Amino acid sequence: MSDLYQRHRAVIPDWIALFYEHPIELTHGEGRHVWDAEGNRYLDFFGGILTTMTAHALPEVTKAVGEQAGRLIHSSTLYLNRPMVELAERIAALSGIPDARVFFTTSGTEANDTALLLATAYRGSNQILAMRNSYHGRSFSAVSVTGNRSWSTTSLSPLQTLYVHGGVRTRGPYAQLTDDRFIEACVADLEDLLGHTRDPAALIAEPIQGVGGFTSPPDGLYAAFREVLKRHGVLWISDEVQTGWGRTGDHFWGWQAHADSGPPDMLTFAKGIGNGMSVGGVVARAEIMNCLDANSISTFGGSPVTMAAGLANLSYLLEHDLQGNARRVGGLLIERLRAIGATVPAVREVRGRGLMIGVELARPETDAPHPEAAAAVLEAAREGGLLIGKGGGHNTTILRIAPPLSLTVAEAEEGAAILEQALHEI
Ligand code: PMP
Repeated sequence: MSDLYQRHRAVIPDWIALFYEHPIELTHGEGRHVWDAEGNRYLDFFGGILTTMTAHALPEVTKAVGEQAGRLIHSSTLYLNRPMVELAERIAALSGIPDARVFFTTSGTEANDTALLLATAYRGSNQILAMRNSYHGRSFSAVSVTGNRSWSTTSLSPLQTLYVHGGVRTRGPYAQLTDDRFIEACVADLEDLLGHTRDPAALIAEPIQGVGGFTSPPDGLYAAFREVLKRHGVLWISDEVQTGWGRTGDHFWGWQAHADSGPPDMLTFAKGIGNGMSVGGVVARAEIMNCLDANSISTFGGSPVTMAAGLANLSYLLEHDLQGNARRVGGLLIERLRAIGATVPAVREVRGRGLMIGVELARPETDAPHPEAAAAVLEAAREGGLLIGKGGGHNTTILRIAPPLSLTVAEAEEGAAILEQALHEI
């Protein structure tokens, strides 16, 4: 055990997850690569857990942060804050939500917390619908709408949460259904649930479950849910913390794959937009956002330095069409990984959209989850110079691939070759 790891263990909570038997100490990054304290270089296929949206040490972002830090580091509130207003204007316009207001937070957890506060206040109900296997953050209320048991750290709750089917379709009773039948079955289940309860405040859902293992419902599921929710006055909160900003390639937001009935009532974002700086937030229609009847602020959410990072990062993303890059390079990578997966019996499914790709592993004899294989592939990939993630239900058995959105074709090829080697070793 390294000296730093021993010190970490002695002072940091046990429930902070670290990858690898011998955890890595990262020291610096550039582009799609990071280096550890021993001088090893890694191709980063997990994008700093999706925080590095564009690239590591992107000069445009570093410069903007440095300039703003040299001028003024301050709270986001009480005084007019130009970078915050500018970023809010851009996000409001991109969100697709009419008459949008934006509230900035410091994390995805705080963004979801705020969305839940707004929904419960607006609707006068503390009942929430959430998806099975979901992850929405680590605060008391975010945990209590988190269906993924390995991340749901308490059974106590300020909310009454009802869990809905639809987030995962590769296992369980609905696994064999076609897309249309799957949607019909999930909608019938939702109707049935609403027939047995007072009307909840909102449904909160990730368009593609992130921590849950990059599981993708069929396009249109949330549009179909939306029809039912509307009839009951229930709001739809789309948690775009992992799916936002073009990562899924075809769409700028995950909800757009379900767009038939229009945008959600609220969307939450975080992770990538600050390229590693803490930027999160909620976008909601003014009528919902302004329903609170007392003052409320976030001292650091929207601070000028993080907003400068967000503005520079968003400009780079749009000017370089990184959504298009995610579609093109991600499409090639998925194809390549599918071809590799077909030669490895423990690969159950390769799925994904854009640069959000999951490789589900299972025991070939029984189809049971195979967490040991996932851990072994992570270690072997690291040996080969590639960082990937893992996730899924109780047993983290799904490899997660989410590189910075500027990934090149050559880097995609290189990473796939390392992963191929690692998969063949198990
Ligand atoms: N929502 C989703 C979908 C997430 O993936 C995460 C983080 N993994 C969060 C919310 C919480 O974000 P944060 O860690 O910034 O609080």
